[in-house]
Amino acid sequence: MVRDPIRIVPLHPAPGLAPAVSPQLTYRGGPLLSAVEVFTAFWGAEWQGADARLMAQVNNFFTYIVASTLMDQLGEYSMPGVAIGHGSLTGTTTITDQQPTSPVTDAQIRSLIQSGIANATLPATTPNSLYFVYLPPGVDADLGGQRSCSAFCGYHDSIGGNVYYAVMPYPGCSGCTGGLSTLDALTSSSSHELCEAITDPVPGLGWYDDSNGEIGDICAWQTRKLDQWIVQLEWSNQSGACI
Ligand SMILES: [Zn+2]
Repeated sequence: MVRDPIRIVPLHPAPGLAPAVSPQLTYRGGPLLSAVEVFTAFWGAEWQGADARLMAQVNNFFTYIVASTLMDQLGEYSMPGVAIGHGSLTGTTTITDQQPTSPVTDAQIRSLIQSGIANATLPATTPNSLYFVYLPPGVDADLGGQRSCSAFCGYHDSIGGNVYYAVMPYPGCSGCTGGLSTLDALTSSSSHELCEAITDPVPGLGWYDDSNGEIGDICAWQTRKLDQWIVQLEWSNQSGACI
């Protein structure tokens, strides 16, 4: 049976992985992001009001994390001619001309990104671009009929195999906070999707494990503190462990 590649952050507690074989990511020949260029888009008027501070914190997180030892750690997944290293936060925006209504479908997210690129409210796509879309409180994401907070806490994907994006619903349920503060839950899930989008930007065509999914799925909800930020552990083939 061919399943869709795993591209979500699962709910907390993570489904216990008791793999028949030890996790081992293998490279499937697709693109990788060598120097990720993250652009964050916060959808909804709340991000200019009650959640403005949270938005600023998430952007500070990205400024730090894309130039941190977490990126160095991903270097083991470099390929000849594609050295995975540090990236940058290239910018941020709030989208307030249309308020999202729950649930926001993946088709609506794709259309938002594509129209944003077309009208230059989002930066033009490069081979390293990664658009992160954040939803406001009370707005679920709908991915193929499954909803955030009941089936997942975030996901990443590609449009047409060359426009890479991640969707981060506001963690407004225990399944998506996992006992963490809102900020810590957001940075943990964002680090999960960031590392997966770098190593497997077209889900299933980069570094992938048919039994266990992508780099972050194997270690879902195992976290650590890096500087002041909570990040998720990621699978290391070299260490044979979540690190
Ligand atoms: Zn994942």
